[in-house]
Amino acid sequence: MTVTAPETFQTAPATWAEVEVNFAKELPGYEPRKPQQIMATAIEEAMTEGRHLLCQAGCGTGKSLGGVTPMLLQALEQETRVVVATATKALQEQYANKDIPFLQEKSGIDFTWALVKGRSNYACQAKLNSDDNERNPLALEVKQELAADEAHDGDREHFLAEISDFEWSKLSSSSNECPGKSECPFGAVCFAEKIKEAGSQADLVITNQAMLMTDLVIREKTSDRDQGPVAMLGDYGMVLFDEGHELPEYAGNALGTDFNGRGMVLLAKDCATFAAINGEDMQHRSEKMAEVIKGLNGLLVPLGGAALTLSWFVENYGLFADLMDLLRSMRLDIHAVKLDGDSDKGNAKKKMLLTRIGNALSTLEEMLVSEDADRVRWVEVNEFRQEKHWKIRVAPVQVGPWLKRNLWDKVPSVVMSATLSAGKNRDGSKDFTYIQRTLGLWDNVSSVDVGTPFDFGQQGLMYVPAPSVPSPKDRNAWMSWSIATTLELIDTSKGGALLLFTSRTAMKQAYEALADRLDDRGLTALMQGDGRTNRELAKIFKEDEHSVLFALKSFFVGVDVPGEACRLVIIDKMPFPVPSDPIFAARSLAEEREGRRPFSTLSIPMMTLTLEQGCGRLIRTKTDRGVIAILDSRLSATPYGRSIVNSLPDFPVTTQLSDVRSFYQGSTFGR
Ligand code: SF4
Repeated sequence: MTVTAPETFQTAPATWAEVEVNFAKELPGYEPRKPQQIMATAIEEAMTEGRHLLCQAGCGTGKSLGGVTPMLLQALEQETRVVVATATKALQEQYANKDIPFLQEKSGIDFTWALVKGRSNYACQAKLNSDDNERNPLALEVKQELAADEAHDGDREHFLAEISDFEWSKLSSSSNECPGKSECPFGAVCFAEKIKEAGSQADLVITNQAMLMTDLVIREKTSDRDQGPVAMLGDYGMVLFDEGHELPEYAGNALGTDFNGRGMVLLAKDCATFAAINGEDMQHRSEKMAEVIKGLNGLLVPLGGAALTLSWFVENYGLFADLMDLLRSMRLDIHAVKLDGDSDKGNAKKKMLLTRIGNALSTLEEMLVSEDADRVRWVEVNEFRQEKHWKIRVAPVQVGPWLKRNLWDKVPSVVMSATLSAGKNRDGSKDFTYIQRTLGLWDNVSSVDVGTPFDFGQQGLMYVPAPSVPSPKDRNAWMSWSIATTLELIDTSKGGALLLFTSRTAMKQAYEALADRLDDRGLTALMQGDGRTNRELAKIFKEDEHSVLFALKSFFVGVDVPGEACRLVIIDKMPFPVPSDPIFAARSLAEEREGRRPFSTLSIPMMTLTLEQGCGRLIRTKTDRGVIAILDSRLSATPYGRSIVNSLPDFPVTTQLSDVRSFYQGSTFGR
């Protein structure tokens, strides 16, 4: 995978400035970007000095190349390796298919790199060869494709066959069921293991935050092994987080866990089937499991949405103790099964079942004993085939101390995103306190905001209602005003509108009130969750300049619609976190315990970050123009509202709809 620098490059570059000289030679008309140069220099300095950097860089900065290039140069200089971790698959693919190949071809830097995804992205040899898939036509097709192409890496994306998520789960393994290379009879030919090995040698690894956080969790759990900790990504000396605002969530997911009743019933059935194939009878265990879970259903289904405390678990210990006893008995039974027939196939299945049982037991043990101040536990209930099923979710209250111990104290890192700061300090500089507190990143760190290449003053306008408009707290009056105003704004922009809602109920109400009226005007109304995927909806919205998309929180980030297709963004109200959310409630309590006011230190910054992300949907290129409207009069009527407006992108602000009309007047939008 090593590529030698083309002959046009006389010497290998050592700095971003030298890389830009090579870009200029290779790309006629190459134009350096000031914000990109500022960020690259800040990263070079931070990595040279071995400190962390919080780097805020707006859309259009050229973050990925401006971030990865100085990291790579410094890693090569210091003879170490660098890991780049994105939050989304789309950005990971962009690095792998566009930015890194470009860097290899045009920069003159000589390096090797690898793309490493999570285990479940690769076909599992143990499953492909199992009895379960013997008559599965898709498994046969996948096996044929693999046999025809020796260089196939087993990546789901590289199969010709269209494979649904459900079908793929039968052909791949999650870490919950994989026993690991040394235990698995197919470990030597495992695709995920081969990718990991290749990745652990590369100068640069492109991965995702979920994978990197899992790597840290496993390293910590195996840190006292004689042969050293298990390191899925090898040893690395620097980390770059792109889409860094998502890091707290991915760290929380890696440290958290789920335990669901239906999964236990399926596990017991799988054990019984495996035992029966090998001449043993575990049917009674399967029936007992169904009975124990039924008992827990009665207890947990009525508690949907509620947080569970340690004392609740102590009170109800008996039912969970029965479950643990049963799992232990199942483990003994499976151990005792003597295999008939192909030993590799049978052994692999046996190891996978034992791994699932072992993981269920350790999750239960951890769930039952964790302190309330450390972990938040709550019940989620959903319906499947007209039956209600529960899941107990467990998440850490804080991820900062763990990140400090396992990452910040060990590896210089850059956390990069368009939205890291929430609000401004008294001197007008960006305030990074919230993200620093969340990440536990206080020591040996600096921050930089490189600004934006866009001219918000010329390219856009922000509308917030006058103080006299009903507040969202006055629900009925606000609702009828906001629906009328939304329609007026859409009429003014002639469509091309992304409507972002803070609740599903509000989105549905607005859609029901407006869809027919939009249709009468020749505009296409689209709604998130209408049966189409988010990706499909975004595609239609991009292509149809006369569409209006009603959407929820997932559209506040990630959706990139440059040009006229998105010329109006309306946010219904300030997106405050929901007080009943168990993680938010637990974090609020933790803030109070430490003597801080959660409204100031948690609610306002969380809301501001989401609002900034929503505003970021409007201007995506230097030629975009449009209006952002936030239909919440608290933004003009309260001191905290005014200070929030002050911290948003520097659009001119108006409380008059007539200014919005003037902004669009004379434009060719929607014609
Ligand atoms: S180690 Fe075995 S079980 Fe795990 S993914 Fe690889 S082939 Fe599958």
